[in-house]
Order: sequence, then C-alpha cells, then structure tokens
Amino acid sequence: MDTLIGIDELKTWRRGQGRVAFVPTMGALHDGHLSLIEHARTLGDTVLASIFVNPKQFGPKEDFATYPRMLAEDCEKLAKVGAAAVFVPNTAEMYPEGFQTYVINESMANVLCGRSRPGHFQGVLTVVLKLFNMTRCDAAIFGKKDYQQWRLIERMVRDLALPVEVIGMPTLREKDGLAMSSRNLRLSAEERKFAPTIHKGLRQAQEKFQAGERDASKLCKQFEELLKGQPAFKLDYVEVRAQDDLGAFTGPIDRAAVMLVAAHLGSVRLIDNLELGSPR
Ligand code: AMP
Repeated sequence: MDTLIGIDELKTWRRGQGRVAFVPTMGALHDGHLSLIEHARTLGDTVLASIFVNPKQFGPKEDFATYPRMLAEDCEKLAKVGAAAVFVPNTAEMYPEGFQTYVINESMANVLCGRSRPGHFQGVLTVVLKLFNMTRCDAAIFGKKDYQQWRLIERMVRDLALPVEVIGMPTLREKDGLAMSSRNLRLSAEERKFAPTIHKGLRQAQEKFQAGERDASKLCKQFEELLKGQPAFKLDYVEVRAQDDLGAFTGPIDRAAVMLVAAHLGSVRLIDNLELGSPR
C-alpha cells in the first residue's frame, strides 16, 4: 500500500489510476472504518483512504488535542483490508496561510449535532469538498453512524453538482450493540459497561414504531426515561426526524423516520441513530 504524505504525492499517484473509490477518515481505525474499505473494494475501483484529524470541525472546547492518533497501526490495518493507498495530508497544506473560503449548508447543518457543535458541519463539508477535489474520486463511502454528516454530504454533492457518487453504509456495532467509534477508546471500564444503553433505547423505539407508535415525542420520552435510570449519562439530544432531509415531525410520523441521539458519558460524547422504518 502507498502512503501519500503530501498533495504532490497524491497528484502523481492519481495520474496512474482509473476509477477511484475514496474513504475519508480521522484515523484510530476500527472494524467500522474497515467495513467501508471492504465495501469500496467490491465496487471494482482502486480504493483510496485518507487520515486527517480536521481541526476545522472541532470547537475550541472539544477534543481535537486528545483525539486518538495511531498512524502506523492504521496503515497496517488499511493494507490488510486491501486499500491501494492512504492519503495523509498535513494541516499546513490543507489550510494554507490566509485560508478563508468555506462550504455552508443553510438548513440541515443547524439541527441535531449542528446545534450543539456550532461550525462543526462547516468544517466537515469544507474538508470533504477539498478532499474530493484533491483526490478526484469517483465514489466516496461514508458510514450512517454519522447520519447527519452523510445526509449533508449527499446534499452538498447534489447542490454543488459534484461528480462524485456518495454511498452510505450501515453502522458496525460491538456484540453488546455499542456503535463502534474511535472515541470508545476513551471510555473508562465503568463507562464502557453503561454505553450500550443508547443502542438499547434506540431498539426499544424501533420496536414501538414497528408496533404502530407514530408519535415522535412519545418515542423520545421513552428514550429519555431509560437514560435517566443511568445518571452517568448526560443527554444532549434525542430526536426523531425524516430520513431524507432530517425534517422534524410536527404531527404523526408520516415519512421514513430515523431516531438520532447524542449523549455525554464522562468526557466522551457518543452519537448513534437507528432507522425506525417507514409508516404504512
Ligand atoms: P471518522 O474517522 O470518525 O471521521 O469516520 C470515518 C468514516 O467512518 C465516516 O464515514 C464514519 O461515518 C464511518 N464510521 C465511523 N464509525 C462507524 C461504524 N461503527 N460503522 C460504520 N461506519 C463508521
């Protein structure tokens, strides 16, 4: 596997490739990330990954400094699952002196995680657009674990007519249901035991929905009650929204819906979601 450190190296590498399927990451790779690479391989394209902890998507009080970094292990894992190359840009090249241009989504970026993390999605969309331009990828694979991010990237591609096919893949979970995440590494042993409650709550909501419950606020209330039983959690939000445009439900759920959650467990902010299904 080639490790491409700078933009020039990437450009030279790209010239020799046909269709490229791209998997952007922030590293500290787990099986969830690797499942995206494996899917990318089935597309029959050359698979390119990237590792970049993007400073522009972290707020001043967030965990940019402590975000896990383990490049050597990551490269080994990528090589094993068959990535052809990994692009590791440096911050100075990504954001040269005087950088002042950003991608702004005016709607979907302002709800859910966008409300708790101002500027986060502006940072995400800007770096993803730059990575698309630098890699000139044909397809890009994202995890539904970051549901709002995936939908925002799909929307950016549509709104700005970018020549990239965006693919969303299911969330990989630990045996007890906890969504795999690089941030799980920072949970204490005690916190790790509580963490699967989030998935349990999402499953309960899905069951209720499938049994006919169409009141989003009732589904959220049930989730809140479950989490209240575990004071280690501090809930940021739980909401049921439309799958396609993340619109809120003012009346009964009448379109395909997804429940999305963010909660703090100690110093770690966990997010998760589950598609509830379509009303019939
Ligand atoms: P990150 O390194 O957290 O920026 O994630 C890189 C990509 O991996 C994003 O598209 C994520 O949505 C995806 N991803 C993260 N966790 C999982 C998971 N548990 N299952 C599937 N995809 C994931």
